[in-house]
Amino acid sequence: MPKKQTIPNRDFIRVGTSKIHGHGVFAKRKIPKGTRIVEYCGDRILKDNLLSDFENGLTSLRYVLSLTDDIAIDGERNGNDARFINHCCQPNCEVYIFDDIPYIYAMEEIPRWKEITFDYKLQSISSKKLTKKEKMKLYPCNCGAKKCRGTLIVQ
Ligand SMILES: [Zn+2]
Repeated sequence: MPKKQTIPNRDFIRVGTSKIHGHGVFAKRKIPKGTRIVEYCGDRILKDNLLSDFENGLTSLRYVLSLTDDIAIDGERNGNDARFINHCCQPNCEVYIFDDIPYIYAMEEIPRWKEITFDYKLQSISSKKLTKKEKMKLYPCNCGAKKCRGTLIVQ
């Protein structure tokens, strides 16, 4: 009888240089629509502590993913390659949270070597309401999508 195959790491992705920003994550092979590509790993941090952690040099806040209203995942601390996935205003992936764990899913078929992206839907941690101009200045987006909103912050 053939042994049941287990694939602990399906190895869909590769980190490389991105045209969008710094490092990016690319499809190592064709990824079918609906595929669970990778878990977004990192330490769980109370959102209330993020700013003081930043001020104390514990994080750059560059790889923070919102998990719940109170908790965020910081990919800078014990994260994996998923932290290098860039934002795009018209992304090909989406984050779904199952059993309290965020995963990156393919929203469409992704051809080999195409960059993998999701919409960060960033929310400002500032209590002040930012104008669109301020958002674009603080968190500019260079994703190059036709419908790029110019900022990582969700409108
Ligand atoms: Zn954009």
